[in-house]
Amino acid sequence: MKLTIALSKGRIFEETLPLPAAAGITPAEDPESSRKLIIGTNHENVRLVIVRASDVPTYVQYGAADLGIAGRDVLIEHGGTGLYQPLDLNIAKCRMMVATENGFDYDAAVKRGARLKIATKYPKIAREHFAAKGVHVDIIKLYGSMELAPLVGLADAIVDLVSTGGTLRANNLVAVEHIIDISSRLVVNQAALKLKYDSIQPVLEAFASAIPA
Ligand code: ATP
Ligand code: MG
Repeated sequence: MKLTIALSKGRIFEETLPLPAAAGITPAEDPESSRKLIIGTNHENVRLVIVRASDVPTYVQYGAADLGIAGRDVLIEHGGTGLYQPLDLNIAKCRMMVATENGFDYDAAVKRGARLKIATKYPKIAREHFAAKGVHVDIIKLYGSMELAPLVGLADAIVDLVSTGGTLRANNLVAVEHIIDISSRLVVNQAALKLKYDSIQPVLEAFASAIPA
């Protein structure tokens, strides 16, 4: 039975590689330096497809990949339709935070009932967070460099991933609210899990055994 695993380059990638390795899966070439988008492995029946991080759930949802690794941030935005999420891989850990320019009195603005402009790559997470707090917001969708938005008056606050806080500090921003903890998860196409159970189950077990503490 052929298996296709969707991985993304970039931040998750280095932390991801020990997982296929634990399952005895070695890429035929280094996906980080290769320009190929389909990469064979030492297993004739297992291949990797290299996609944008935020596209992993889509490839797995439609069965173009049987398995994938995606951040919880991306999975919440996607919605998870058609996906089974059996393992939290405990890698690429960070936090989804609200951040503002240093000196902006966020708590006062919230208390006052002000309508806030929020710039983010994560409109669903942001919308749900502020709705639960009863804060009225206008969401401004961005694709990157969110930190710039408050500095040039595009937004009052951003919703973004924070790990060390170095990027916030470098741009005179401060985190004012923690929304959720983020890590990467294994996702499996629900139909593939049934139809290819004998091929997928050993991979799930190997991945589970390689999760960092
Ligand atoms: P691009 O940077 O090309 O726009 P991307 O933002 O989708 O692509 P990455 O920045 O590599 O891709 O992020 C991929 C995933 O890594 C995110 O979905 C998130 O789960 C995780 N991640 C992002 N930033 C951090 C961080 N600072 N620390 C740990 N994990 C992170
Ligand atoms: Mg990025």
